[in-house]
Amino acid sequence: MKTVQTIDDLRTQVRSARVAGKNIGCVPTMGALHDGHISLVEAARKETDFVVVTIFVNPTQFAPHEDLSKYPRPLEDDLRRCENAGVDLVFNPDADTVYPADDAAFVEVPRCSTTLEGAHRPSHFRGVTTIVLKLFNMVLPDIAFFGQKDYQQQLLIRHMVDDLNVPLEIRTCPTVRESDGLAMSSRNTYLSDPDRQSALALSQSLKIAHDACTADGKSPADARQAMLDHLAQFPDVKLDYAVIADANTLSEVADAVPQMVALIAGKVGSTRLIDNMLITI
Ligand code: AMP
Repeated sequence: MKTVQTIDDLRTQVRSARVAGKNIGCVPTMGALHDGHISLVEAARKETDFVVVTIFVNPTQFAPHEDLSKYPRPLEDDLRRCENAGVDLVFNPDADTVYPADDAAFVEVPRCSTTLEGAHRPSHFRGVTTIVLKLFNMVLPDIAFFGQKDYQQQLLIRHMVDDLNVPLEIRTCPTVRESDGLAMSSRNTYLSDPDRQSALALSQSLKIAHDACTADGKSPADARQAMLDHLAQFPDVKLDYAVIADANTLSEVADAVPQMVALIAGKVGSTRLIDNMLITI
């Protein structure tokens, strides 16, 4: 495994892989890697011959009051995990390499970007779509791998790729969870023991919504109420939203449609967590 910091070095490595007849997989991350990230690497290894992991804590997707400066950056551990997982190349640029100019161009995807996470983190998705397109243009992968954990994010990235004719394919990989159901996240390291217990309310309430719609045949409106009733038992969870939406448009639904997604976000202590679960009927 090689690690590079500059765009020239990245392109040299990727070019020689391509000349050797390899197709290129890319897994964009902000580091602090856990088994969720590694599952994306495993998916990339199955479908592509040369796997590039990018590790970059992207400043433009953090609002000024968010956790950019304290975001975990355990680079040595991350590199070890990548090596063990069979990654071919890690691209770990610094911020000046990625953003040489303050007034640079950006990418905004209007569809689905102003609701849910977009409503609670207004500048977030512009930062995400901009960095992801930049990374695509730097790496030039054939396939890029994202997690369902960030459901709205992968939907926006799919829209961006379609709308701007970006010549690659997107894969969305299932959310990897701890054995008690908590979705793995780099931010889980912020949770105290009591917060960690309260955080379980998120995945529990998603499961309640899922089972209400599928096993019990309840309407999304009733399933959402069941979620809210469960969450009401956890006063430490400060909810931003808990909704059941059309999985393709993210519009909230009161009556069932075939592909739905229950989405939740809230703060536990000072840590903001998100999670979601697909509901297919
Ligand atoms: P991040 O480092 O948080 O920006 O995440 C990098 C990629 O890993 C994104 O595509 C995330 O959706 C994905 N990811 C994060 N957590 C998980 C998880 N628990 N299971 C699967 N993918 C995940």
